[in-house]
Formats: sequence, structure tokens, C-alpha cells
Amino acid sequence: MKFSDLKLTTPYLQNEAIFYDVLDPRPLDNPFLISVSQDAAKLLGVDEDLLDDEKLLGIVNGSLKMEGSSPFAMCYAGHQFGHFVPRLGDGRVLNLGKVNGVNLQLKGSGITLYSRGGDGRAVLRSSIREYLMSEAMHGLGIKTSRALALIGSDTDVSRQTIEKGAIVLRLASTWIRFGSFEFFNAAREPKLLQDLADYALAESFPHLVGQEDSYLKMFAEIVKSTAKTIAYWMSVGFNHGVMNTDNMSIDGSTIDYGPFAFLDDYEAYYICNHTDTAGRYSFVSQKGIGYWNLEKLARALSPILNHEASMLVLENVYYEAYDDAYLKRMRARLGLFTEDPRDMILTNQLLSSMENSSIDFNLFFRRLSSYDGNKSLILDIAVSRAPLERWLDFYDARLLKEEASQEKRHSQMLGVNPKYILKNHILQLAIDKANENDFSMVNDLLKVALSPFEEHEDLEYLCINTPQDAKNIKLSCSS
Ligand code: AMP
Ligand code: MG
Repeated sequence: MKFSDLKLTTPYLQNEAIFYDVLDPRPLDNPFLISVSQDAAKLLGVDEDLLDDEKLLGIVNGSLKMEGSSPFAMCYAGHQFGHFVPRLGDGRVLNLGKVNGVNLQLKGSGITLYSRGGDGRAVLRSSIREYLMSEAMHGLGIKTSRALALIGSDTDVSRQTIEKGAIVLRLASTWIRFGSFEFFNAAREPKLLQDLADYALAESFPHLVGQEDSYLKMFAEIVKSTAKTIAYWMSVGFNHGVMNTDNMSIDGSTIDYGPFAFLDDYEAYYICNHTDTAGRYSFVSQKGIGYWNLEKLARALSPILNHEASMLVLENVYYEAYDDAYLKRMRARLGLFTEDPRDMILTNQLLSSMENSSIDFNLFFRRLSSYDGNKSLILDIAVSRAPLERWLDFYDARLLKEEASQEKRHSQMLGVNPKYILKNHILQLAIDKANENDFSMVNDLLKVALSPFEEHEDLEYLCINTPQDAKNIKLSCSS
């Protein structure tokens, strides 16, 4: 199947007109293709080479329409940094339609009814980041929206400086956000709220349709998948940066990549978002913010779902689901096949030792994946050896309870502890090159993003250590 031969449907448009704004994209000037993800295209059932598809560029630029497509922006609300905004919506995104259970979106395709004074554009810098990160999170086994293609252009876009406009073609099984429900609750439209809930059930939870207490069951699944995704973020050192309720997908996928970061040296209170002065979305806050956001969702659903019942589900399910997922993941990262009741303590001790030792989070785990009792290999990359050295003694003692051979442990660990992590300094190098019209690094990063655990001998330059002055930097929200 060829991408441009796909036939889309637009079931969302069967909802009332207040749900969306139907309009055409505004194409960029002199567009050119920068990168495609053939892996993401598989989700759509596309097996022909995207690069051979002469219509792809026009479709991503919005100058060509796919069969069945009727572009629309979605309306939603959201809590931004704790404050409720009753109307947000896709201000620079257009949904093209759906195929194979996947919704296609253009990000950066011009203003919509919901642009609120914004220009509807996305700059090349932030588009490269979102494009690569979507694929990298998938490569790491974390639920995420995907990215099929990235295009650049000559269109000027004004931010702190003049930059160039770009568009990412994003894919997700749903684009309904916690904030979508908040919109209809705040608008005091219980019938439309129910329509949205029914749409969400059919789209993301079809196994619950027609069941008793289907909204409560749907909420429980949202709680569970949100907890699991955030636990995975924490296990891999990912800081989302803008966990507003409008950036929370109801299927637990990571969406809306802005000033995100992977930790360099482990730092619990790291804040990647420059505008987040209070640290609301700091690395260690993410678990609590996930809960806070789900409380807002429960509140938004209250006209159609008993609030006490949903809060009970939230309390009973969230922390347990989080801890289960987190511990499972951390045991895998530590090469522990058995379960010991003290493993959470061992993990927490590791994090404080790492912080005191100043060591790169993911590089530590990669080195630990070939640990044979020789501590130097690991301690040599720490600024201060003593805290981590003590922890390795605890680890040695814990390994004595394991029956698996060292060889088996190492090979398992190498499959879960990535060699390649798209840290901000490396993304920035790719962006610097792209600004000089060299997109080779974007395409190299895509390769390692999709297989981060494998060795790529010709791409070793992509796993260089972060320079001291680029470690755990903060990023601007402007995108
Ligand atoms: P974000 O923080 O990127 O998730 O965006 C928050 C809200 O602002 C969403 O409703 C976006 O659609 C909107 N937005 C962000 N940037 C722009 C832009 N350049 N033009 C129009 N709307 C925007
Ligand atoms: Mg957003």
C-alpha cells in the first residue's frame, strides 16, 4: 500500500459542530522533505517506500488532499500550570482523518478557530525535536504519538528571532485529551460531554462499549495507563515539561512534545521548562502531577460519572499501578529477575547515590549492563565516587539472591538500558546542522531512536557524553 493511496474517514465530524472547526491547511512556501519514518508508516498499513511517494510532500504541506480527508481542528480546554483555561483547542494542528485506527495530524499547518492570536505555525527547531522524540519514545517502548514525516520550508516564522516554518505529520490512536472533557464540563453541556465519552469509548476502549459502568471502567483504564506511562518516563529519566491537562492523552500516550528533556546527570528536582519557575513539572513531580491531572478529569466527568466512585478508583488504582510498573521497569534495568521486598528501597538508594555522585543517568545503566564486580568502569564516570561505591556494595549483596548467570543478566540488561538517548545537547547539534540545511544528523538520530539498545558502529558519534556546560539545561517553551 502506498501512503497517498490511503482512504481516510472522519468519524469525529459526526459529533456536533461545536466539537471542531473544519478548514483547510495553509501550505508553507517552497516546502521540502526532511525525513520520513517508514516504521511509523507501518501503523497505517503502508509498505511502499515513503520516499518514492511523489504526493507525500504535498499532503504533509496541506496542498494536496488525501481521499476522504476533511481537515479539522479539535476544541478542548485545559489546566495550564494549575489554572483553568475554558477554551484552548488545536491552534496550529489539523486532523486529516483516520485510517487503520490511527488519526493523522499536521502540526504547524496554519491558524484555526482556536489559535488565540498565535500564528498557527511550528518552527523547524521544535518540529525536529517532536519528530525525533516521538519515534525515540516508541523505540524505548513508551506509549507515544508517532511521527511519519517532517518537512521544512522558506516560510518565515517570528519567535525570539526569525525562524523557518516546518510541519510534522503526527499519528495517534486518539487525540482526545483530559482537556477535551474539561471543555464540555465547563460549558455546562452534559449531553455533549456524554457524546464525547461515547466517542472516546468507541475509539479507544471498544471492549467496554455496552458494558455496565462503562464510563467508570474507562476512567479506571485511563488512570492505569497514565500511571504506567509516567512510571516509564521516570524509569528512563524523561521530563515532559508541560504536563497541562490539555497535553494528557486519554489513552495514556505521551503527546505534545515541547521543552522536554532526558536527564543528563541524575537530579530529582530538575526542571526542563524555563518558564516553569516554581518547578510544578520538575522531574520528580511528574507522578504527583499525573494524579492531580486525573483528579481534574474525574471532576470534568462528574455530570455523567459519580464523582465519589471515580475518586475511589483513582485512589485505589493510581499509585498501585504506578509502583507496579515502575518497580518492574527498574528491576529490569538493574538486571533483577527475582523480586525482593526491599527492591524499592534499593532503587531509591540508587537515585540518591547517583545524585550525590553526579553521574549520567542512562550512561550509568548502560555501564551497569556489563558490570562484573569491577566498580571502576562505573565509578570512573561519576564526579564523586564514594556514594555510588557504597550503593554498588548493596547491589553486589542483592545479586547474590539471583540465580541467573551473569551472562544472562548482562544480555537482558543490554536490551532494556539504551545506548542511545536523545538528550538535548545532541538534539541541539542536529538542529544547528539543520539550520544550515544539513539534515543528515536528523536522519542518523532517527535510526538510533528506533533501535536505541543496539550498537550502531557508524553512529557512535551520537552517544558522546554531554559537555559540562550543556548538562540539564532548561529550554524555552517557544516553539
Ligand atoms: P502547547 O503548550 O504547545 O501544548 O500549546 C498550548 C495551546 O496553545 C494549544 O491550544 C496550542 O494549539 C496553542 N498554540 C501553541 N502555539 C501556537 C501557535 N504558534 N499558534 C497558534 N496556537 C498555538
Ligand atoms: Mg498541547
